[in-house]
Amino acid sequence: MSDKNKGLSKAQEIYLNRSQRARELKAAGKKIIGYPCVYVPLEMLTALDLVPYQTCGDIKEPVTEADRALPHSFCPIMRNCLDCALKGKNDFLDGMATIHSSDPQEKTARVWESYTNYPYFHFIDMPITVRPEALEYFKSQLNDFRKTLEAFTEKKLSTDKLEAAIKSHNQQRALVRELYELTKPSPPLISGTEIVQVVKALTSLPVVEGNDLLTETISEVKNRTDGPEKKSARLLIWSSTLDDTDIMQVFEAKANVVMNESCGGIRAYRGGVKFTADPLEGLADYYLNEITCARTFRQATLGETRKDYARDLQSRFGYLKGIIKEWKINGAVMLLVRYCDPFAFEMPSLKDYFNSLGVPSTYIEYDYTTGALAPLRTRVEAFLETIS
Ligand code: SF4
Repeated sequence: MSDKNKGLSKAQEIYLNRSQRARELKAAGKKIIGYPCVYVPLEMLTALDLVPYQTCGDIKEPVTEADRALPHSFCPIMRNCLDCALKGKNDFLDGMATIHSSDPQEKTARVWESYTNYPYFHFIDMPITVRPEALEYFKSQLNDFRKTLEAFTEKKLSTDKLEAAIKSHNQQRALVRELYELTKPSPPLISGTEIVQVVKALTSLPVVEGNDLLTETISEVKNRTDGPEKKSARLLIWSSTLDDTDIMQVFEAKANVVMNESCGGIRAYRGGVKFTADPLEGLADYYLNEITCARTFRQATLGETRKDYARDLQSRFGYLKGIIKEWKINGAVMLLVRYCDPFAFEMPSLKDYFNSLGVPSTYIEYDYTTGALAPLRTRVEAFLETIS
């Protein structure tokens, strides 16, 4: 990694060669643990001096090897992630921490474990509701995770180390939110594409290095004179995983994407872990309640017997109202990765919610390949014509 690069150019360099730093750290004796989903509590890895590395897909990589293990009509992102693993692209990993955040994630984790032989592999089961008993169960799952990590590292997961890790990861969340404040001006001071590069760089670095990168980037962006141009619309994109600059570029050809509500954007950085007597309590609460992925079912009122649709929409999507107002968003795109049921189920209600706020929105489906970019461009341009 060249030292002369700082901020945005460093983020781009890492984005283009994500595994380089992890390989350097491995050569220096660190253990690298892969994770496919942002629901995995990274603080528990950091506290044991393990380096978390998000195993992402690559839309430029045609899926071949994964055909041996996963059906075609299956989450294209999980197929792609597994394909990259089976092609040895993650051969520097010492293990994987996986989680039941969706059924494709669960199925893929089982296949991934049986097709690879990492020294460490753990699967965390995760409830889909936020009920008190679900929180208790999730906490017990994190306790099992702690046990296997301690056995693998032959170290105790001490409360001090865990609280220090929570502090660093909360700092990272605050810095990413600060970065997103810089998309509020018109034109925004940083583009959606640049933020995709920064966030994807963060998920390949130890948290402290990521925080340094963010601090550099924020100060650079605040003082830059070569920021993005003002475009015809200020978009919010709501999706599962939008972590590729070629996809973001399709939107930013004619619009400013000021909020990427996906795992390649703000999703994993909203809120912060509370400090609790037993740190696993705070971790379970944060990861189950605060991360706004469609896989989690939120009832307006626990145990309700009669549906109140408006209150139901508010409990599921209410967090978007403030964003739309503060970021002056005038268009929303619900971007669905084909075969992603949790997000597909939410789309009709989310459309109603955007309508209730008077925000024009459109629903677009694609399959996480380069072949999808041209039709995606046609759909995006057609939508922008209707709102400009
Ligand atoms: S969209 Fe949801 S399930 Fe998929 S990686 Fe993100 S948090 Fe995990």
